[in-house]
Amino acid sequence: MIRTQLVRLYPNKAMRKHLDDLCDYRRYCWNLGLETWNNMYQESLIMGNKKLKPSWQKVRNELAHDKQDWQYQLSSRCLQLTIQDLGKAWQNFFDKARPDWGKPKFKTKKAPRQGFKTDRAKIINGQLRLDKPHGIKEEWHNIEISGAKNLKGDLKTVSIFKETNKYYASLPFEVEIKIKCQTKRKTAVDVNVGHLNYTDGIINTLPKKLQSLYQRIAYYQRLLACKRQVNGKLAYSTNNYVKTRAKLQRDYHKVANIQNDILHKFTSKLTDNYDTIVIENLDVKQMQMTHVASKGLQRSLFGKFRQLLTYKCNWYGKHLVLANRYYPSTQRCSNCGYIKQDDDKITLQGNQKYHTKHNEYICYQCGAVMDRDENAVQNLLALA
Ligand SMILES: [Zn+2]
Repeated sequence: MIRTQLVRLYPNKAMRKHLDDLCDYRRYCWNLGLETWNNMYQESLIMGNKKLKPSWQKVRNELAHDKQDWQYQLSSRCLQLTIQDLGKAWQNFFDKARPDWGKPKFKTKKAPRQGFKTDRAKIINGQLRLDKPHGIKEEWHNIEISGAKNLKGDLKTVSIFKETNKYYASLPFEVEIKIKCQTKRKTAVDVNVGHLNYTDGIINTLPKKLQSLYQRIAYYQRLLACKRQVNGKLAYSTNNYVKTRAKLQRDYHKVANIQNDILHKFTSKLTDNYDTIVIENLDVKQMQMTHVASKGLQRSLFGKFRQLLTYKCNWYGKHLVLANRYYPSTQRCSNCGYIKQDDDKITLQGNQKYHTKHNEYICYQCGAVMDRDENAVQNLLALA
Protein backbone atom coordinates (compact mmCIF):
# COMPACT_ATOMS: atom_id res chain seq x y z
CA MET A 1 0.00 0.00 0.00
CA ILE A 2 1.15 3.55 -0.73
CA ARG A 3 1.11 5.91 2.20
CA THR A 4 1.81 9.58 1.48
CA GLN A 5 3.21 11.97 4.03
CA LEU A 6 3.27 15.71 3.57
CA VAL A 7 6.25 17.30 5.27
CA ARG A 8 7.71 20.77 5.51
CA LEU A 9 11.26 21.18 4.22
CA TYR A 10 13.91 23.46 5.65
CA PRO A 11 16.55 23.81 2.94
CA ASN A 12 19.63 25.94 3.55
CA LYS A 13 20.39 28.91 1.35
CA ALA A 14 22.30 26.96 -1.29
CA MET A 15 19.59 24.32 -1.57
CA ARG A 16 16.84 26.94 -1.69
CA LYS A 17 18.45 28.24 -4.83
CA HIS A 18 18.59 24.73 -6.32
CA LEU A 19 14.96 24.07 -5.42
CA ASP A 20 13.86 27.37 -6.97
CA ASP A 21 15.85 26.56 -10.09
CA LEU A 22 14.15 23.19 -10.35
CA CYS A 23 10.69 24.76 -9.93
CA ASP A 24 11.54 27.15 -12.75
CA TYR A 25 12.95 24.30 -14.78
CA ARG A 26 9.81 22.24 -14.50
CA ARG A 27 7.74 25.22 -15.64
CA TYR A 28 10.16 25.73 -18.53
CA CYS A 29 9.97 22.06 -19.55
CA TRP A 30 6.19 22.02 -19.25
CA ASN A 31 5.68 25.12 -21.37
CA LEU A 32 8.22 24.10 -23.98
CA GLY A 33 6.79 20.57 -23.99
CA LEU A 34 3.27 21.88 -24.44
CA GLU A 35 4.35 24.12 -27.30
CA THR A 36 6.19 21.23 -28.96
CA TRP A 37 3.15 19.02 -28.45
CA ASN A 38 0.82 21.55 -30.09
CA ASN A 39 3.22 22.03 -33.00
CA MET A 40 3.53 18.28 -33.57
CA TYR A 41 -0.23 17.96 -33.48
CA GLN A 42 -0.70 20.77 -36.01
CA GLU A 43 1.88 19.17 -38.25
CA SER A 44 0.15 15.82 -38.14
CA LEU A 45 -3.11 17.51 -39.14
CA ILE A 46 -1.53 19.42 -42.02
CA MET A 47 0.28 16.36 -43.30
CA GLY A 48 -2.77 14.16 -42.70
CA ASN A 49 -0.49 11.60 -41.12
CA LYS A 50 -1.59 9.96 -37.88
CA LYS A 51 1.89 8.60 -37.32
CA LEU A 52 3.13 12.13 -36.71
CA LYS A 53 0.80 12.62 -33.76
CA PRO A 54 2.60 13.60 -30.57
CA SER A 55 3.23 11.32 -27.61
CA TRP A 56 5.12 12.07 -24.42
CA GLN A 57 8.07 9.97 -25.56
CA LYS A 58 8.36 11.88 -28.84
CA VAL A 59 8.14 15.23 -27.09
CA ARG A 60 10.68 14.16 -24.49
CA ASN A 61 13.12 12.99 -27.14
CA GLU A 62 12.79 16.26 -28.99
CA LEU A 63 13.38 18.29 -25.84
CA ALA A 64 16.30 16.10 -24.75
CA HIS A 65 17.84 16.43 -28.21
CA ASP A 66 17.66 20.22 -28.12
CA LYS A 67 19.10 20.51 -24.63
CA GLN A 68 21.26 23.55 -24.05
CA ASP A 69 24.35 23.77 -21.89
CA TRP A 70 22.63 25.29 -18.86
CA GLN A 71 20.16 22.42 -18.75
CA TYR A 72 22.90 19.93 -17.85
CA GLN A 73 23.18 21.74 -14.51
CA LEU A 74 19.68 20.54 -13.69
CA SER A 75 18.22 17.11 -12.98
CA SER A 76 17.36 15.24 -16.15
CA ARG A 77 14.66 13.41 -14.21
CA CYS A 78 12.83 16.71 -13.90
CA LEU A 79 12.44 16.93 -17.68
CA GLN A 80 11.43 13.28 -18.02
CA LEU A 81 8.78 13.42 -15.28
CA THR A 82 7.40 16.76 -16.45
CA ILE A 83 6.79 15.52 -19.96
CA GLN A 84 5.33 12.29 -18.60
CA ASP A 85 2.87 14.38 -16.58
CA LEU A 86 2.08 16.43 -19.66
CA GLY A 87 1.19 13.17 -21.42
CA LYS A 88 -1.09 12.26 -18.51
CA ALA A 89 -2.69 15.69 -18.67
CA TRP A 90 -3.52 15.12 -22.33
CA GLN A 91 -4.93 11.70 -21.50
CA ASN A 92 -7.16 13.26 -18.85
CA PHE A 93 -8.32 15.76 -21.42
CA PHE A 94 -10.15 12.94 -23.18
CA ASP A 95 -11.86 11.85 -19.97
CA LYS A 96 -14.58 14.40 -19.43
CA ALA A 97 -15.72 12.79 -16.20
CA ARG A 98 -12.72 14.17 -14.35
CA PRO A 99 -13.35 17.16 -12.12
CA ASP A 100 -10.40 19.20 -13.39
CA TRP A 101 -11.29 18.53 -16.99
CA GLY A 102 -9.70 20.77 -19.58
CA LYS A 103 -6.79 21.21 -21.97
CA PRO A 104 -3.34 21.37 -20.40
CA LYS A 105 -2.45 25.01 -19.91
CA PHE A 106 0.76 26.96 -19.98
CA LYS A 107 2.10 27.54 -16.49
CA THR A 108 2.90 30.97 -15.18
CA LYS A 109 5.47 32.30 -12.80
CA LYS A 110 2.70 34.13 -10.91
CA ALA A 111 0.91 30.95 -9.86
CA PRO A 112 0.89 30.67 -6.04
CA ARG A 113 2.25 27.13 -6.12
CA GLN A 114 5.43 26.16 -7.92
CA GLY A 115 6.93 22.71 -7.81
CA PHE A 116 8.71 19.81 -9.42
CA LYS A 117 9.01 16.05 -9.07
CA THR A 118 11.84 13.62 -8.69
CA ASP A 119 12.01 9.85 -8.47
CA ARG A 120 15.63 9.73 -7.31
CA ALA A 121 15.16 11.25 -3.87
CA LYS A 122 16.31 9.35 -0.79
CA ILE A 123 15.85 9.66 2.93
CA ILE A 124 19.24 9.64 4.64
CA ASN A 125 19.46 10.04 8.42
CA GLY A 126 16.04 11.67 8.49
CA GLN A 127 17.02 14.16 5.80
CA LEU A 128 15.97 14.37 2.18
CA ARG A 129 18.66 13.92 -0.45
CA LEU A 130 17.90 14.90 -4.02
CA ASP A 131 19.81 13.59 -7.00
CA LYS A 132 22.75 15.79 -7.84
CA PRO A 133 23.08 16.46 -11.56
CA HIS A 134 26.45 15.58 -13.09
CA GLY A 135 27.14 19.00 -14.55
CA ILE A 136 26.76 20.88 -11.31
CA LYS A 137 29.72 22.62 -9.71
CA GLU A 138 28.12 24.27 -6.67
CA GLU A 139 27.77 22.55 -3.32
CA TRP A 140 24.91 20.17 -2.67
CA HIS A 141 23.31 19.47 0.72
CA ASN A 142 20.74 17.23 2.29
CA ILE A 143 17.51 18.94 3.29
CA GLU A 144 16.13 19.12 6.81
CA ILE A 145 12.61 17.70 7.21
CA SER A 146 10.14 18.66 9.93
CA GLY A 147 8.15 16.00 11.72
CA ALA A 148 10.14 13.23 10.07
CA LYS A 149 9.57 10.41 12.51
CA ASN A 150 8.15 7.40 10.75
CA LEU A 151 9.72 7.79 7.34
CA LYS A 152 10.09 4.13 6.52
CA GLY A 153 9.49 2.04 3.46
CA ASP A 154 10.20 2.31 -0.23
CA LEU A 155 10.18 5.95 -1.38
CA LYS A 156 8.29 6.57 -4.65
CA THR A 157 8.14 9.70 -6.83
CA VAL A 158 8.45 12.74 -4.57
CA SER A 159 6.73 16.03 -5.36
CA ILE A 160 8.33 19.12 -3.94
CA PHE A 161 6.54 22.42 -4.00
CA LYS A 162 6.86 25.97 -2.82
CA GLU A 163 4.01 28.07 -1.53
CA THR A 164 4.21 31.47 0.15
CA ASN A 165 7.97 31.07 0.38
CA LYS A 166 7.81 27.78 2.25
CA TYR A 167 8.88 24.43 0.90
CA TYR A 168 6.96 21.19 1.21
CA ALA A 169 7.38 17.65 -0.02
CA SER A 170 4.86 14.89 -0.36
CA LEU A 171 6.61 11.62 0.29
CA PRO A 172 4.83 8.47 -0.89
CA PHE A 173 6.07 5.29 0.73
CA GLU A 174 5.29 1.74 -0.19
CA VAL A 175 4.48 0.23 3.20
CA GLU A 176 2.89 -2.77 4.74
CA ILE A 177 0.09 -1.97 7.15
CA LYS A 178 -0.89 -4.20 10.01
CA ILE A 179 -4.57 -4.73 10.68
CA LYS A 180 -5.60 -3.32 14.06
CA CYS A 181 -6.89 -5.74 16.65
CA GLN A 182 -10.62 -6.39 16.91
CA THR A 183 -12.56 -4.86 19.80
CA LYS A 184 -16.08 -6.09 18.95
CA ARG A 185 -17.39 -2.59 19.68
CA LYS A 186 -19.40 -0.33 17.43
CA THR A 187 -20.08 3.38 17.27
CA ALA A 188 -21.79 6.05 15.18
CA VAL A 189 -20.71 9.58 14.35
CA ASP A 190 -23.12 12.46 13.81
CA VAL A 191 -21.45 15.27 11.92
CA ASN A 192 -22.47 18.80 12.81
CA VAL A 193 -21.22 22.26 12.14
CA GLY A 194 -18.58 22.86 14.78
CA HIS A 195 -18.66 19.46 16.45
CA LEU A 196 -18.74 15.73 15.86
CA ASN A 197 -20.89 13.63 18.18
CA TYR A 198 -20.20 9.97 18.81
CA THR A 199 -21.11 7.39 21.41
CA ASP A 200 -18.29 8.41 23.74
CA GLY A 201 -18.63 12.16 23.62
CA ILE A 202 -18.15 15.24 21.48
CA ILE A 203 -15.21 16.42 19.40
CA ASN A 204 -14.92 20.15 18.88
CA THR A 205 -14.09 20.92 15.26
CA LEU A 206 -14.31 24.68 15.55
CA PRO A 207 -11.78 25.87 18.12
CA LYS A 208 -11.35 29.63 18.64
CA LYS A 209 -8.21 29.64 16.53
CA LEU A 210 -10.13 28.25 13.57
CA GLN A 211 -12.99 30.67 14.01
CA SER A 212 -10.73 33.70 13.78
CA LEU A 213 -8.98 32.19 10.76
CA TYR A 214 -12.34 31.70 9.02
CA GLN A 215 -13.14 35.34 9.62
CA ARG A 216 -9.82 36.50 8.28
CA ILE A 217 -10.20 34.31 5.19
CA ALA A 218 -13.62 35.79 4.51
CA TYR A 219 -12.07 39.24 4.79
CA TYR A 220 -9.28 38.47 2.29
CA GLN A 221 -11.75 36.87 -0.10
CA ARG A 222 -13.88 40.01 -0.02
CA LEU A 223 -10.83 42.14 -0.60
CA LEU A 224 -9.76 40.13 -3.64
CA ALA A 225 -13.28 40.06 -5.07
CA CYS A 226 -13.36 43.82 -4.73
CA LYS A 227 -10.08 44.23 -6.57
CA ARG A 228 -11.31 41.96 -9.35
CA GLN A 229 -14.48 43.96 -9.70
CA VAL A 230 -12.64 47.25 -9.94
CA ASN A 231 -9.74 46.24 -12.15
CA GLY A 232 -11.18 43.29 -14.07
CA LYS A 233 -8.63 40.87 -15.46
CA LEU A 234 -5.83 43.33 -14.86
CA ALA A 235 -6.20 42.76 -11.11
CA TYR A 236 -4.46 39.39 -11.29
CA SER A 237 -1.17 40.92 -12.29
CA THR A 238 -0.98 43.70 -9.70
CA ASN A 239 1.43 43.33 -6.82
CA ASN A 240 -1.20 44.09 -4.21
CA TYR A 241 -3.43 41.36 -5.51
CA VAL A 242 -0.62 38.81 -5.50
CA LYS A 243 0.36 39.84 -1.98
CA THR A 244 -3.16 39.52 -0.59
CA ARG A 245 -3.59 36.21 -2.33
CA ALA A 246 -0.41 34.98 -0.67
CA LYS A 247 -1.84 35.93 2.71
CA LEU A 248 -5.05 34.10 1.90
CA GLN A 249 -3.05 31.08 0.84
CA ARG A 250 -1.12 31.16 4.10
CA ASP A 251 -4.36 31.14 6.10
CA TYR A 252 -5.79 28.31 4.03
CA HIS A 253 -2.70 26.35 4.97
CA LYS A 254 -3.18 27.06 8.64
CA VAL A 255 -6.82 25.98 8.45
CA ALA A 256 -5.90 22.76 6.68
CA ASN A 257 -3.26 22.00 9.32
CA ILE A 258 -5.65 22.49 12.22
CA GLN A 259 -8.44 20.54 10.54
CA ASN A 260 -6.11 17.70 9.60
CA ASP A 261 -4.78 17.50 13.11
CA ILE A 262 -8.26 17.23 14.66
CA LEU A 263 -9.49 14.73 12.09
CA HIS A 264 -6.42 12.52 12.10
CA LYS A 265 -6.52 12.20 15.86
CA PHE A 266 -10.24 11.46 15.89
CA THR A 267 -10.27 8.94 13.03
CA SER A 268 -7.31 7.11 14.55
CA LYS A 269 -9.14 6.93 17.85
CA LEU A 270 -12.22 5.54 16.10
CA THR A 271 -10.33 2.84 14.22
CA ASP A 272 -8.41 1.99 17.40
CA ASN A 273 -11.47 1.52 19.57
CA TYR A 274 -14.23 0.27 17.30
CA ASP A 275 -14.81 -2.42 14.70
CA THR A 276 -17.92 -0.97 13.11
CA ILE A 277 -18.42 2.74 12.54
CA VAL A 278 -21.64 4.25 11.15
CA ILE A 279 -21.65 7.70 9.56
CA GLU A 280 -24.41 9.46 7.75
CA ASN A 281 -24.35 10.42 4.12
CA LEU A 282 -22.63 13.75 4.34
CA ASP A 283 -24.06 15.13 1.10
CA VAL A 284 -27.26 15.73 3.02
CA LYS A 285 -25.53 17.67 5.76
CA GLN A 286 -23.82 19.85 3.22
CA MET A 287 -27.18 21.00 1.91
CA GLN A 288 -28.27 22.18 5.32
CA MET A 289 -25.39 24.56 5.74
CA THR A 290 -26.82 27.64 4.09
CA HIS A 291 -26.77 29.67 7.30
CA VAL A 292 -23.17 29.04 8.31
CA ALA A 293 -20.11 31.20 7.84
CA SER A 294 -17.22 29.80 5.79
CA LYS A 295 -19.35 27.10 4.24
CA GLY A 296 -16.64 25.98 1.88
CA LEU A 297 -14.18 25.32 4.66
CA GLN A 298 -16.75 23.50 6.80
CA ARG A 299 -17.69 21.38 3.82
CA SER A 300 -14.09 20.54 3.15
CA LEU A 301 -13.90 19.30 6.74
CA PHE A 302 -16.82 16.93 6.17
CA GLY A 303 -15.26 15.65 2.98
CA LYS A 304 -11.90 15.15 4.66
CA PHE A 305 -13.45 13.34 7.59
CA ARG A 306 -15.13 10.83 5.33
CA GLN A 307 -12.02 10.42 3.18
CA LEU A 308 -9.73 9.78 6.14
CA LEU A 309 -12.14 7.43 7.82
CA THR A 310 -12.70 5.46 4.61
CA TYR A 311 -9.06 4.79 3.97
CA LYS A 312 -8.19 4.12 7.59
CA CYS A 313 -11.03 1.59 7.84
CA ASN A 314 -9.66 -0.04 4.70
CA TRP A 315 -6.13 -0.13 6.02
CA TYR A 316 -6.94 -1.49 9.43
CA GLY A 317 -9.65 -3.97 8.48
CA LYS A 318 -12.55 -2.08 10.10
CA HIS A 319 -16.10 -1.83 8.86
CA LEU A 320 -17.54 1.50 7.76
CA VAL A 321 -21.33 1.79 7.32
CA LEU A 322 -22.74 4.70 5.35
CA ALA A 323 -26.32 5.58 6.19
CA ASN A 324 -28.72 5.96 3.30
CA ARG A 325 -29.24 9.59 2.34
CA TYR A 326 -32.93 9.38 3.19
CA TYR A 327 -32.35 7.86 6.60
CA PRO A 328 -34.15 10.20 9.07
CA SER A 329 -31.40 10.27 11.69
CA THR A 330 -32.58 13.62 13.04
CA GLN A 331 -36.36 13.04 12.98
CA ARG A 332 -36.42 9.49 14.30
CA CYS A 333 -36.87 8.75 18.00
CA SER A 334 -34.12 6.39 19.07
CA ASN A 335 -36.26 5.22 21.98
CA CYS A 336 -39.42 4.02 20.22
CA GLY A 337 -38.61 4.43 16.53
CA TYR A 338 -41.29 7.02 15.80
CA ILE A 339 -40.44 9.33 12.90
CA LYS A 340 -41.58 12.96 13.08
CA GLN A 341 -43.59 14.24 10.12
CA ASP A 342 -44.51 17.65 8.66
CA ASP A 343 -45.17 20.22 11.42
CA ASP A 344 -43.62 18.04 14.13
CA LYS A 345 -40.25 17.93 12.37
CA ILE A 346 -37.35 19.60 14.09
CA THR A 347 -35.39 22.12 12.08
CA LEU A 348 -32.12 23.87 12.76
CA GLN A 349 -34.06 26.43 14.82
CA GLY A 350 -35.97 23.78 16.80
CA ASN A 351 -39.71 23.36 16.39
CA GLN A 352 -41.98 26.35 15.84
CA LYS A 353 -45.18 24.55 16.78
CA TYR A 354 -44.05 23.22 20.15
CA HIS A 355 -41.43 25.91 20.84
CA THR A 356 -38.59 23.48 21.43
CA LYS A 357 -34.96 24.55 21.27
CA HIS A 358 -32.63 23.65 18.43
CA ASN A 359 -30.72 21.13 20.50
CA GLU A 360 -33.73 19.29 21.94
CA TYR A 361 -35.46 16.17 20.78
CA ILE A 362 -38.82 15.52 22.44
CA CYS A 363 -40.78 12.50 21.32
CA TYR A 364 -44.56 12.96 21.34
CA GLN A 365 -45.15 9.23 21.20
CA CYS A 366 -43.17 7.86 24.13
CA GLY A 367 -42.30 11.13 25.87
CA ALA A 368 -38.54 10.69 25.69
CA VAL A 369 -36.51 13.90 26.04
CA MET A 370 -33.07 13.77 24.53
CA ASP A 371 -30.27 15.87 23.17
CA ARG A 372 -30.83 16.26 19.48
CA ASP A 373 -27.31 15.16 18.44
CA GLU A 374 -27.14 12.26 20.89
CA ASN A 375 -30.45 11.03 19.52
CA ALA A 376 -29.00 11.16 16.00
CA VAL A 377 -25.98 9.15 17.13
CA GLN A 378 -28.24 6.47 18.65
CA ASN A 379 -30.29 6.33 15.44
CA LEU A 380 -27.19 5.81 13.35
CA LEU A 381 -25.93 3.21 15.78
CA ALA A 382 -29.12 1.24 15.18
CA LEU A 383 -27.86 0.64 11.63
CA ALA A 384 -24.70 -1.15 12.75
ZN1 LIG B 1 -40.23 7.94 21.15
